[in-house]
Amino acid sequence: MNLRTGKKIDGTLPRVSIWGQKGHFKLTFKDGVLIKKEACAEDSASEFCYISPAFADSHFHFTGYAIYQASVDLMHSRSIENIQEQFLDHMNKYKPVFLFGEGWDDSSFTDGGNFTGSDLDKISRELPIAARRIDGHKSVVNSVAAEMLIKKGCSVDPQGILMERDSINLGSYFEFSRETVERGFALAEKKALSFGVLAFCDYVDPMYYDHLLKRSDILKELKIRYFTMEPFDLEDPVSNERIRYGGKKYFLDGSIGACTAATSFEYIGKGRAPAPFYTKAELLKLFYADLEALREISVHAIGDNAVRLLLEAIKDTKAAQSFRLEHLEFIFDRELELLEDLGCPVSLQPNFIGMWGRPGGMYEKCFGDIYKRNNPLNSIVSRSGLPAFGSDGMPFSPSFGIYWAVNHPIEKEKIDLEAAIGLYSVNSFKLLKMDTGFLETGSAPIFLYFDKMPDENRDKERFLEPDATINSGRTVYVKN
Ligand SMILES: [Zn+2]
Repeated sequence: MNLRTGKKIDGTLPRVSIWGQKGHFKLTFKDGVLIKKEACAEDSASEFCYISPAFADSHFHFTGYAIYQASVDLMHSRSIENIQEQFLDHMNKYKPVFLFGEGWDDSSFTDGGNFTGSDLDKISRELPIAARRIDGHKSVVNSVAAEMLIKKGCSVDPQGILMERDSINLGSYFEFSRETVERGFALAEKKALSFGVLAFCDYVDPMYYDHLLKRSDILKELKIRYFTMEPFDLEDPVSNERIRYGGKKYFLDGSIGACTAATSFEYIGKGRAPAPFYTKAELLKLFYADLEALREISVHAIGDNAVRLLLEAIKDTKAAQSFRLEHLEFIFDRELELLEDLGCPVSLQPNFIGMWGRPGGMYEKCFGDIYKRNNPLNSIVSRSGLPAFGSDGMPFSPSFGIYWAVNHPIEKEKIDLEAAIGLYSVNSFKLLKMDTGFLETGSAPIFLYFDKMPDENRDKERFLEPDATINSGRTVYVKN
């Protein structure tokens, strides 16, 4: 079969293994439609190709990721000189009105340099330049940018350093051009297609909210399906078969990295965890108003104290299916019982296991031995009404997440590969209420094509990056 980007699929795949189906098949496509699916003889003489449903990322920050793609990527800079080169390159290539870069990490600088605003003044004294550290909590700006930011109420020290809140919100002080946002969306979409992601839920970062809101027509250009749960109070919100607005998102606690997730156990060296952000009465008041307005409700809850409070409040509303729970990184028997009782949909992030759940990782540094109880996937999946996977963009990659779901350090919390693929595809689409079906004859299918059976031992965290991505019968990506 010929798979060419932009073309409708046509021809035959003679030896196919299909996700979730026993045996092997011969598939025939014509003009983008699956017209015949036949069983083929078993023989082990040569390898079979593999077809899985396309992925949907049920928890992502697409807009932020897009703007990051259009900015200067400093993630691989290993010195101040490197950062300067990156900015100069970008300046010469795109002739922007300001330079915005993200991702530098001074702990990986090879020259041990002390990065300050004067290093950025060497690039330009006319264009504002800002460079945000990988964690977002510290930024370096040149003198033009410092002057502009001080006028807008930020505090910038004499070395050109912004800290915490001002640094986290840095993007909101820059007016990104339409061209930049468009380029970012195109680059982000390209990445998504190469990862086999054809739909996602975008939790729009408040600092990028205006950028999207003013330019929501850019969404119409996307090939992939877009869903968001931020309340868009647009007069005429774009809404079609690919774009959907859901409802509200609440935060019930913070994050473990910032020691603000509401756990029942202590943070080592920091003492007791903070309480959830709302009381049950406050939550119920908000939830009843949303349910009355027929909004879907998404709630971020990471620590067991937050999750338990949330589940108890949901129980009172008697509307468990209108909610979706995000993260659930540390939960135990009591929460699992409540979850089973209510059957709420949940969006889990298996990639967090690989990022922070390994021995010596962030969870262990924060909590000691209890870290082993992190992200109890199998326990949650077997009790939730609709479990699904998302990345939260850390990193954006279903393959990475699935690798860690099947390699969970705790044996009883592992999930098998077929189940993990299902959670990141079929289930995630269902969570976004964008059901697409999978390989039905007579349909213009959406699926991922792999030349060989995916094998994690061959390519660890990238083993499920497809060789081709097919969207509604058309090839939208082919690996070179
Ligand atoms: Zn998030």
